[in-house]
Amino acid sequence: EGRIVSANKQQEDVKELSLRPQNFNQYIGQSKAKENLNIFIQAAKERNEPLDHVLLYGPPGLGKTTLANIIANEMGAGFKVTSGPTIERAGDLAAILSSLQPFDVLFIDEIHRLNRTVEEILYPALEDFSLDIMLGKGPGAQSVRIDIPPFTLVGATTRAGALSSPLRDRFGIISRLEFYNEYDLIDIITRTAEILEVDIALDGAKEIACRSRGTPRIANRILKRIRDIAQIKGKGVIDVGIAKSGLELLEIDEHGLDNADRMVLKTMVDVYDGGPVGLDSVAATINEESTTIEDVIEPFLLQIGMINRTPRGRVVTEKGYNHIR
Ligand code: ADP
Repeated sequence: EGRIVSANKQQEDVKELSLRPQNFNQYIGQSKAKENLNIFIQAAKERNEPLDHVLLYGPPGLGKTTLANIIANEMGAGFKVTSGPTIERAGDLAAILSSLQPFDVLFIDEIHRLNRTVEEILYPALEDFSLDIMLGKGPGAQSVRIDIPPFTLVGATTRAGALSSPLRDRFGIISRLEFYNEYDLIDIITRTAEILEVDIALDGAKEIACRSRGTPRIANRILKRIRDIAQIKGKGVIDVGIAKSGLELLEIDEHGLDNADRMVLKTMVDVYDGGPVGLDSVAATINEESTTIEDVIEPFLLQIGMINRTPRGRVVTEKGYNHIR
């Protein structure tokens, strides 16, 4: 998947580690989530207890992994990372849990993709910091309970609704991350430019901010591409002119939509008469993964009011119609 506006992690984003804010002060925006977490963290530290388990949800690229890492840093605890789809067997999770140090923060990305048997291992771990392990097979099998160190689970998901309710109920803190406003994105872009040692004018940063779909990962990715363009075609400084021509080359329009987004809108209009239509039908028509549409494309189109949700499916709004006309 080579879309520059895709908020899903891509190869080069591995390097984004160095761009990652390390503490609350460096973490821009999301003031509600930050304020709450800060209080809970201070309180847990005063009581000398691990922080309650935290569920972070929201579209990809909004800073869930970053925030989980900051939680560990602010707690002064270790940080371990895994993800729902990589934990295949119950034993894999048992091994991870029993290797934790006291107060560690265990981050499970895409936690809605844990399978059932793995999830069941998690329940006693979250509630009593214990593991139920089966020894042997058949009639002689025995279950033993072992203690694990007190820890904090931070789960991240693009869709809180996709979590089973017993799992969701075991999180004491549930926090939804929001799309970032233009000002926060300008701050994020300026900060990243400093780290990358690129010269950027305020109007250049603003232009990128407006077209980053409210998403830091996309803002950073566009900035990197436009840095290349500024270097080769300009004088190395990203001003509004360079930013605009770069975004044009990248085929990202003034709302931050790329070809895939426009294709979704166009299909809804041309093939489905503007809806109501189910996302699965749209996905099938344009040969796109329905999870990509649901996690990445739809939330932003909803956010900027180009489509609406109705009980019978999604519909294109007047704004959406006007945009692709
Ligand atoms: P998610 O886990 O939600 O997909 P990440 O935490 O991986 O998102 O964030 C993607 C990138 O965006 C990070 O590497 C970081 O550089 C940047 N980023 C995210 N949130 C912020 C923020 N609040 N302030 C500054 N940079 C951020």
